[in-house]
Amino acid sequence: MSAVRSRSASEVIAHIEKNSVVPHGPWMKGQSPCRIWTLGCDSAGYGMIFFDNKTYKVHRFIYLNKVSEIPHGMLILHSCDTPSCNEISHLRLGTHSDNAHDKVMRGRCKSPTGNAHGSKTCPGRLPSGDNHFSRKFPEKLRRGTANNKAKFTDSDVLNIRGLHQRGETVTFLGARFGVHRETIRRLINKKTWMHIS
Ligand SMILES: [Zn+2]
Repeated sequence: MSAVRSRSASEVIAHIEKNSVVPHGPWMKGQSPCRIWTLGCDSAGYGMIFFDNKTYKVHRFIYLNKVSEIPHGMLILHSCDTPSCNEISHLRLGTHSDNAHDKVMRGRCKSPTGNAHGSKTCPGRLPSGDNHFSRKFPEKLRRGTANNKAKFTDSDVLNIRGLHQRGETVTFLGARFGVHRETIRRLINKKTWMHIS
């Protein structure tokens, strides 16, 4: 197999920007819109990217490369509470206890009700109805666990095989599409999705 050229951090940032979308408002006054990563995410919804033999969360990669080093044990928190967002102005350094506090404030903890519910504490921040991500970008949603047999669309399959031919590794493609590299390998070797060619 041909050697894969390693990508520079700025190429990865360009890749992240190219594969992120800005949802339509309404946005709170003075707030910049989210930039939503549209490719592979982990089970918690954080965008994942492979760089320099390591898997990174997309928002941490952006913070690390555009803002500053992240001290050991620190988290990068989202002011917008959207794990797949990588808009720089929505990211800030925080501790685990800051994160726990945010969770309570925004109703991400178990069954917040009444005035503690996110819809009461941050009504302007919670997308819902036609504003919800799933309505705005239905084609971007991967419902992997809901339907194990259909992790990919037909065009994903063609896309993955094409990227692999152009030199992307199965490990990178696994991180990018949020699946195990063995899943990618089987897809490329047509052990799965053999009806797509
Ligand atoms: Zn955001």
